[in-house]
Amino acid sequence: MKKLLEKCDQLYINGHWLKGEGEKRVLSNPANEEFLTEIHEASVEQVELAIQAAFDAFRTNDWAINKGKRIETLKRIAQRLEDAKDDLTKLEVINTGKPYNEAKLDIDDSIACLRYYVDLIVEKQPRRIKMEDGSVSKVHKEPIGVCSLIVPWNFPFLLGMWKIAPALAAGNTIVFKPSEITPLSSILFTELLDQCDVPDGVFNLVLGAGKGPGEALVTSDKVDKVSFTGGSETGRKVIELCAQSFKRVSLELGGKSPFLIFDDVDADLAAELAIYGAFLNQGEVCVASSRLLVHENLYETFLGKLNEKLQKLRIGDPFDQNTEMGAIISKEHLAKIERYISIGKEEGATLLFGGERLNRKGLFITPAVFTNVKQNMRIVQEEIFGPVVTVQSFRTEKEAIELANDTKFGLAAGILSGNQERAQKIAGELKAGTIWINSYHTPYVEAPWGGYKQSGIGRELGPEGLDGFLETKHVNTQKSVESLGWYKF
Ligand code: NAD
Repeated sequence: MKKLLEKCDQLYINGHWLKGEGEKRVLSNPANEEFLTEIHEASVEQVELAIQAAFDAFRTNDWAINKGKRIETLKRIAQRLEDAKDDLTKLEVINTGKPYNEAKLDIDDSIACLRYYVDLIVEKQPRRIKMEDGSVSKVHKEPIGVCSLIVPWNFPFLLGMWKIAPALAAGNTIVFKPSEITPLSSILFTELLDQCDVPDGVFNLVLGAGKGPGEALVTSDKVDKVSFTGGSETGRKVIELCAQSFKRVSLELGGKSPFLIFDDVDADLAAELAIYGAFLNQGEVCVASSRLLVHENLYETFLGKLNEKLQKLRIGDPFDQNTEMGAIISKEHLAKIERYISIGKEEGATLLFGGERLNRKGLFITPAVFTNVKQNMRIVQEEIFGPVVTVQSFRTEKEAIELANDTKFGLAAGILSGNQERAQKIAGELKAGTIWINSYHTPYVEAPWGGYKQSGIGRELGPEGLDGFLETKHVNTQKSVESLGWYKF
């Protein structure tokens, strides 16, 4: 691990490792606040160099058109990742503070994602349409060109792979920027990719913040597509900048997802699933079910069970196999979470339990549960992105749906009910990109992921995720040149 960390101040541009000439940033481990490494980030000029490398690579080698080569190369990368799973997992844990068991799943899912897109590209053929006038049309899907891929810190490797895998499988060349606070697994990934005969310039890694490096990735005229995951306010800036040159853009943004819990489910199970929905990854999940909507008949029993279970939740050392909730990513983010807890109290909501720092080294806080909330409160409407949940009761299905849809977000929702017919009907009325019935959280690589309303534009994962990195070209062919019979001459 120490050896890995020593190499961490490097960018990867045009197949070469370069020392960053931009800002310097010290990274520490959220679980013990100890020094990890110092990163030398990219200067804007170095980001431009990376974009130029991707631009040249798209035009000068056969990556875009040689599907066989892409398939072989990506399979080699998947195998390298498989061999390095444990190191990737450990880097993710020390950089984010998330429990080892969760990070392990993230790495497994990332490899599965890469393999899925390799298989998808193997199968992909142009669509052929025989037209009534005797002509034949073919609908080709082509890579877009140079893609800037920008991701946040909560699932650094997994969210990176959701973009890298389809972008490369489709034949694009890319410049990838992880979050400035969680670059470690991406650096190891790049080392592994470097051993897999990827043509120079096809994959470039730049490190650094949004201001400077991030903006350079969005504004460059040589970039054809920006694929961004992050906060809605940043997403707004990104799309505004992309609009200047009509760049292709996809945005995976924030959420405030509701979990609708009906009175025909067992309260004990409901509390278990609600905890999983709201507090997995310390609640630092875009789809976290941060608003629990519980039928009034179940409300009091449910709160009792929730309290009972949360008291037993094991929070602490991410490397301990028994740990169920890890550390908050940074001091700044912990302060933001605590600010929201104060706002909730000031707004008149009841902090039923939690929201207290653990008396130990590291950035730990107990899950906070608010009741007596009103729909217009900030803790109900705004994304906190931490272990804070509001619990509201409802009487009718109509009321539950109204509450569920009443925020500016529309990323995900959950429904717990023993009545399948009712659950399906409600799913039809919820304004959200992903809806889980009687479960929560699982991202299926085969199915799309993304948001309604201010939670985003476009979809990742599934065939839709590949389409996001392809342009569509329609070629219509008549067998020979014939008179159109349209003019009178
Ligand atoms: P953020 O918006 O601050 O940063 C995300 C990324 O964008 C980082 O790499 C950052 O350096 C970069 N960036 C910041 N400003 C930029 C700019 N002006 N131009 C270009 N790049 C810029 O978000 P964050 O705090 O890292 O992550 C948390 C947010 O991400 C939450 O809102 C969460 O809901 C969202 N998220 C969404 C999904 C999803 O799938 N919809 C998944 C995970 C996280």
